[in-house]
Formats: sequence, structure tokens, C-alpha cells
Amino acid sequence: MKKYDVIVVGGGMAGLTAGIYVVRAGKTILVLEAGAVGGQIITAPSVENWPGSFRMSGADLMKDIAGQATELGVEIKYEEVTEITKKGNGFLVTTDEDEYICGAVIIAAGTEPRRLSEKQTKDAGKRAISYCATCDGALYKNKPVVVVGSGNTAKQEMAYLKNIASRVYHIHHDDPIPEDVEAVFVAIGRIPMTKVYTDLVDVNKDGFIIAGEDCVTSCPGVFVAGDCRTKSVRQLVTAAGDGAVAAEAAVHYLNK
Ligand SMILES: Cc1cc2nc3c(=O)[nH]c(=O)nc-3n(C[C@H](O)[C@H](O)[C@H](O)COP(=O)(O)OP(=O)(O)OC[C@H]3O[C@@H](n4cnc5c(N)ncnc54)[C@H](O)[C@@H]3O)c2cc1C
Repeated sequence: MKKYDVIVVGGGMAGLTAGIYVVRAGKTILVLEAGAVGGQIITAPSVENWPGSFRMSGADLMKDIAGQATELGVEIKYEEVTEITKKGNGFLVTTDEDEYICGAVIIAAGTEPRRLSEKQTKDAGKRAISYCATCDGALYKNKPVVVVGSGNTAKQEMAYLKNIASRVYHIHHDDPIPEDVEAVFVAIGRIPMTKVYTDLVDVNKDGFIIAGEDCVTSCPGVFVAGDCRTKSVRQLVTAAGDGAVAAEAAVHYLNK
């Protein structure tokens, strides 16, 4: 079984930043990513608030950061973490393909979109359901669509679709789906991807891993970074900041 000093769950902004800091501190590191490296920002067409690169697409930004991380020696594998348990002084990390041993873990698993309610899913029937207007909007050129949701993301999705669709309806969570639409775009918030770790670390009632600015969890040797931890601002810069803090904390823990 392969051994690493640190294993990071998630190759988004928080996980890749953690990787950069851990490898530069002279430790071995593996970043495990279940989907596409880069995380949730890769669907954003333009990022304006990442200092140093004005109006860069999320995909380009994360491609650069992933390149920087691998160039520095961060190993990335495309596997989904299915379980983490304590083993001796460290941890056994199980994925859908393999098992690994490490001394410390950084959970940087981010969030996923909240799914449409059962009632609305039934109501939508065979019509398409999408969680990303940037990804799927172009498929509905000159066709009527509906956006479900009340927050800022729903407003952004509507603004984007107005340039493409023939009509954009706006409804709230659990309103009936308009009959004539061809696609339902869902923007009703995001939930943390933390189900796998609820036996390992404390989470709050919404499933976010409880930790302060120090990124320290209730389990010694397990740290958390980015959007999946309890915090007030979930943005790229705060995810990167967490990545650095969690990495330093993990290295300090190992050196002790
Ligand atoms: C459409 C959109 C636009 C945005 N625009 C901006 C913006 O302009 N500026 C800004 O600052 N922020 C923006 N944000 C917010 C920003 O994207 C997030 O705050 C940031 O990406 C969080 O990074 P993260 O690393 O914590 O999580 P994520 O980016 O969610 O990365 C987590 C990664 O972990 C992986 N993962 C999860 N579970 C597992 C598992 N079990 N095994 C292996 N891998 C796993 C996921 O596949 C994912 O790649 C936007 C978000 C969205 C959705």
C-alpha cells in the first residue's frame, strides 16, 4: 500500500493550494480528485476577483494552478475517496480504486449543487434538468426555459440565459414548473460534500465540517480547507487561504 505524508481530498482551489504548500515544506503529498481537477469554478466563464488575473475563465485559472502544483511535485490521482479511517498513528484512505496510508489528511471536498425537490423533479418529467447555465444553456437557443431559485446564483443564471433562450421564466423552490419550458435550470444553493467523513469529524446541522480559521477539525491529524468548512465567505481567495493554513497545520502536526 502506497504511503504519503499528507493526502488531500479534492483538487479544487483549496486542495491544490494545500498541495503546493505541503510539497514546498518537503513532505510527500497525494491529491485525490473524483471529478475534474479545478473544482466548481471551472464552469465560470469569467472570474473578476482573483487578484492578479482579471477576467480569466475559471477553467484557465485552475489549469494554471494545477500546472503549478504538478510542476512543484504534487501528485494528483483521479479517484473518489469513499472512506477515511484511523490506522495506527495515521489514516487509511480508501478510494473507488485503491487504498493509501498517510500521516495527515486535508479535506478540501467543496460543495455540490442542491438537487431539485422530488415534487419538482416529478413535475419536470422528461424535460432536461441542468445545474449549470454556462454548461448547458447553449442547447436551448430560442427555446423557453425556467430558472428555479431565489438567490444571487439564480439571478446570474437568468441573466446568462436571457441572451440565449426565447423566454426565461423564474420560479421559486417548489413552485410548479411552467408547461411550455424545455429545460429546468436549478440554482437553489449548494451543499457540502462531506457525507463520507461524518464518523471522523464533527459537522454542523447543514453538513459543513466544523473548524475555525486554523482549519483544525475535531479529529487530530485531519484538517479542512475551503467551502466544505464552517465559514462566512465561500470564495476562491478564502479557499486558497484555507489551503495554505491547513497545509501548514498538517506539516506542523507531522513534525511534532
Ligand atoms: C458558477 C460559480 C461561479 C463562481 N464564481 C466565483 C468568482 O467569480 N469568484 C470567487 O472568488 N468565487 C466564485 N465561486 C466560488 C468558488 O468557486 C468557490 O468558493 C471555490 O471554488 C471553492 O473551492 P474548494 O476547493 O473549497 O471547493 P471545490 O471547488 O468545490 O473543489 C472541491 C473538489 O473536491 C472534489 N471532491 C469532493 N468529494 C470528493 C471525494 N470524495 N473524493 C475525491 N474528490 C472529491 C470535487 O470533485 C471538487 O473538484 C463561484 C462558484 C460557482 C459555482
